[in-house]
Amino acid sequence: MSSQSKNPQTRQWQELSQRHHLAPFSDYKQLSEQGPRIITKAEGVYLWDSEGEKILDGMAGLWCIAVGYGREELVEAASKQMRELPFYNTFFMTAHPPVLELAKTIAEIAPAGMNHVFFTGSGSEGNDTMLRLVRHYWACKGQPEKKVIISRLNGYHGSTVAGASLGGMKYMHEQGDLPIPGIVHIPQPYWFGEGGDMSPEEFGIWAADQLEQKILEAGADKVAAFIAEPIQGAGGVIIPPDSYWPRIREILAKYDILFVADEVICGFGRTGEWFGSDYYGNAPDLMTIAKGLTSGYVPMGGLIVSDKVFEVINEGGDFNHGFTYSGHPVAAAVALENIRILREEKIIEKVKAETAPYLQKRLRELADHPLVGEVRGVGMLGAIELVKNKQTRERFSGELAVGMVCRGHCFANGLVMRAVGDTMIIAPPLVISREEIDELVTKARLCLDLTARDVQG
Ligand SMILES: *Cc1c(COP(=O)(O)O)cnc(C)c1O
Repeated sequence: MSSQSKNPQTRQWQELSQRHHLAPFSDYKQLSEQGPRIITKAEGVYLWDSEGEKILDGMAGLWCIAVGYGREELVEAASKQMRELPFYNTFFMTAHPPVLELAKTIAEIAPAGMNHVFFTGSGSEGNDTMLRLVRHYWACKGQPEKKVIISRLNGYHGSTVAGASLGGMKYMHEQGDLPIPGIVHIPQPYWFGEGGDMSPEEFGIWAADQLEQKILEAGADKVAAFIAEPIQGAGGVIIPPDSYWPRIREILAKYDILFVADEVICGFGRTGEWFGSDYYGNAPDLMTIAKGLTSGYVPMGGLIVSDKVFEVINEGGDFNHGFTYSGHPVAAAVALENIRILREEKIIEKVKAETAPYLQKRLRELADHPLVGEVRGVGMLGAIELVKNKQTRERFSGELAVGMVCRGHCFANGLVMRAVGDTMIIAPPLVISREEIDELVTKARLCLDLTARDVQG
């Protein structure tokens, strides 16, 4: 465990971690040896750890914090609701004002024709709900054999059994005998990593056509839905070529297959529009939401359902599915306040018109760095590809986990930037200012320089 602690409590907390805490997505032995960094407070776009170090949070918590840390209005909304009605369920013919107000508010900001919301406690539960609701929909229509859901390799849809199965993370499938039956995967539209000699536009068409091929393989009368993130987040901020979504839309319409957008990251302003589907002009039948819905202050997720799907399940009798915390009143009150702030302070408009163009311009300046093969981004999302050879896109792979080296330097220099393999990714809070963007890019360049020094030995 880390030995140069200034604060003796750091050591004590790390010992508690070692003795009692099983952390998500962690190598327990490594975590015990190194000890976790203990984050103790936050304000705006900054975190502080137990050693008093100030860190610029380039990942918005975990893609969550839209309105920034330390918003008193959200604290007030939660405590007011806790005093009035801290909990009641929404099962068995009951409801409460916050859940109804929130459903109405989400319908106002969602794309046209998406007016119904099923609430969950997380994004994973939203996708589990999607799987059951989509199969229920086709059963109600007299086509119960339309069950297969097509998803993408290296997509991320959560960590429950259905979420991890829908996701295309091989290392997740390996644990627990996943995916479950009825879920199949197609290649991702990741030109930089997998495009080979094709142009991005050619590759976008090729990747979209994989959907048609999979539909024909499974049989169109067996395929219920296609699920995808507008921009893959956890997979490495993968932005499809411009040719991709129009072709996907054509294919889905041709074979009468439901389109599910997993908006858990892209939703609530991350792309400079309310939803990633708005950014691309997609018209999904269902959308999974979480993260930015409450800015992460309390857990909440959900599934937005179009009128087209609702009208069918409305005639379908009981939908035998739900969670104790579906529409939790405190989470609903916080989500309502979060959306009020996003709207009244015109945060998404500001992202689109000012801060995202500035972030994207500043980030692209890093493309001249000897280690950087590509810089890409949309809105408040960005990715920096680390390569051995800028021209050929050759990786360091095997020789050196260069992404982890870079992440280590960021960690030590007051910046949270995540490594997905050799891709560095950022998704700062939507309220990040120009000055803070300057600081982010300056720190990122410093860390790239330090990484290059290590790589050269
Ligand atoms: C985080 C995430 C999920 C899972 O949400 P949880 O709240 O962690 O269950 C699902 N889809 C996408 C795109 C995500 O980024």
